[in-house]
Amino acid sequence: MNHKKIMLNCTRVNHQYMRLPVGKVAGLEAMTELYKRIASQSLTCAQAWVNDSPCPDHEPATDAFWGAIVAWADAFGLSMGVDQIEWGRVFVYPHNEFANYLRPGRPPEPLPTVNGSPANIILTLDALWTELVIKLTTKYGLLHHLKDKGALIEAQSLQGELQNPDSPTYKAFLESDLNFFRKLFKPLPFSEKTKKYITDWLKQAEEAL
Ligand SMILES: [Zn+2]
Repeated sequence: MNHKKIMLNCTRVNHQYMRLPVGKVAGLEAMTELYKRIASQSLTCAQAWVNDSPCPDHEPATDAFWGAIVAWADAFGLSMGVDQIEWGRVFVYPHNEFANYLRPGRPPEPLPTVNGSPANIILTLDALWTELVIKLTTKYGLLHHLKDKGALIEAQSLQGELQNPDSPTYKAFLESDLNFFRKLFKPLPFSEKTKKYITDWLKQAEEAL
């Protein structure tokens, strides 16, 4: 599985199982609509990439989404404590190349490494990632995304909820993240050792549910 096929898989999983607890948390309606658009554009662009075609039209928020995932991926691997060389090769590198295909240029700085329980790491990085998506969306396409003001406000108001383990939103996000990560990582060409490491780590995160 080369880096382009890896990203075709990642965009497919993202399209099928969005990293949002759809229907379980109120007040995410506009954000869900925006994420659906991003997910569908991402899949179309990844398909074109696999075929070595020029990148089809997509919105600035799609660039922001994947640019922020590159920044997230780096911090997630370090925080998880997984083999860095393998994580870099199988996960970060393909994401970086895809982000660069969507929007050529330097990716944003990696997010900070997070300490604590696996659940805390997942949700804190989720909050930081969401914040970065908003920041980059307004930076890359404020005028284009004025129509998505509602989505950006919803995303902003999530920040506090994702830091509060007692909030039902926290649990709903953790559950949908775990489901998403399992589907996302499963087909990736990690070594058996790393696969087991990731599976065990996600199992620990599940204990917080
Ligand atoms: Zn495109």
